[in-house]
Amino acid sequence: MKKLCVMLAAVLLLALLSGCAFTDKLGQIDLPEPPGTEKETAAPTPDPAEAAAEQARQEELNARRAEALAEAERLRSGYFYDEAIAALSDEEIYDESVEAELAAIRAEKDSLVDYTGDVPHIFFHSLIVYPELVFTDRVTPMGGYNSGFSEKAELEKILPQLYERGYVLYDLDALWEMTDSGMQRNPILLPPGKTPLILSVDDVAYAYGDGFAQQLFVDENGELMYRVNNPQGGVDIVPDGDVMGVVDAFVEQHPDFAYRGHKGTIALTGFQGAFGYDYDIPEQAEQIRTVSAALKADGWNFASHSYTHNRVNNYYGPGCSVEKISYDINKWVDHVVPCIGETRLFIAPFGYRVQQPALQCILDAGFEIYCTVDSKVYNELNPDYALMSRIEIGGYSMTYYRDTLNELFFDVDSVFDAAGRPPVVG
Ligand SMILES: [Zn+2]
Repeated sequence: MKKLCVMLAAVLLLALLSGCAFTDKLGQIDLPEPPGTEKETAAPTPDPAEAAAEQARQEELNARRAEALAEAERLRSGYFYDEAIAALSDEEIYDESVEAELAAIRAEKDSLVDYTGDVPHIFFHSLIVYPELVFTDRVTPMGGYNSGFSEKAELEKILPQLYERGYVLYDLDALWEMTDSGMQRNPILLPPGKTPLILSVDDVAYAYGDGFAQQLFVDENGELMYRVNNPQGGVDIVPDGDVMGVVDAFVEQHPDFAYRGHKGTIALTGFQGAFGYDYDIPEQAEQIRTVSAALKADGWNFASHSYTHNRVNNYYGPGCSVEKISYDINKWVDHVVPCIGETRLFIAPFGYRVQQPALQCILDAGFEIYCTVDSKVYNELNPDYALMSRIEIGGYSMTYYRDTLNELFFDVDSVFDAAGRPPVVG
């Protein structure tokens, strides 16, 4: 120990005598310091190694802060206020920018107002991806697909207009709750100027011909993909071959268009299967389970659109009977629920309003929210279920309910594919 001290003193003396060049060299070599001499030997300027470490630490903090701020902003814009605040809880990254972001999140959360009006609900059938394959004759007036369906290009023009008008996609399942005193509407807390909008998509069995999606599947990357036959005779594999994919892409760009990530409700039938698969073939039922789990993870949920989708012979039409409705509902519960899970949403085929006593079969199966079809917005709260109308978006409504659609949702002229469609009949 004594020897070491003597040596060190000699080195220091040498350093003093020989000037800066030698000291710098010593500094770079980073000699180990003998114990107990730290204070005496510490240089008046910061150790470059320490300074570099400090700089690296600052850079790492800045990167973490930027990441947390971006995450908080993404959460805030999707109405995840508490989650956004939690994303900034790391005390180490706290500075004025974090403080400002937290203040902005809290201010927006405090500004939310309960939307108390009737909630509008629009619905689509599967999109016509290639109109030229569906409308081969553009002269002869046509109903069917031309009447009840929208084109993909039309939906892509509708969504930005709904967004511009302050609509926010909201969860149908979150609107009403069964309580001890019966059905009650839940508060709908949105920033001032925003209006909740329910969106649903019917059928999606993919039993249509060319021009529509043929199948929906989850690819090896876990992404939902549609198989669509194209006009060139080939097959497109695309993420936006139907309403869900088009809405997903828009919300990706505009997270504030979906309330807490919720996008819409898919109304499935039983008799034609779902997404291009059969419920009763085990491997295909497994595909339905995989696809529906991926859709749920993407902000979609499911409604029963009945099993038979039948309006004659005392099903969902005048004369509907307890016997036929209960047969239909039981088939839904036995064949569809095992694939997609339970739901309390009932989207009536043809929008038909089943009356008592047949209605009781639907309510007894656990359905609490019942949707009809209308050309106006209508909500109705009953002790044992809630009811709301849906407005169809398709060739028929864009032709015959132009004023309603213009007033409520979008400018029809800027959307409607008048050149690509034949004249619309009901
Ligand atoms: Zn239908």
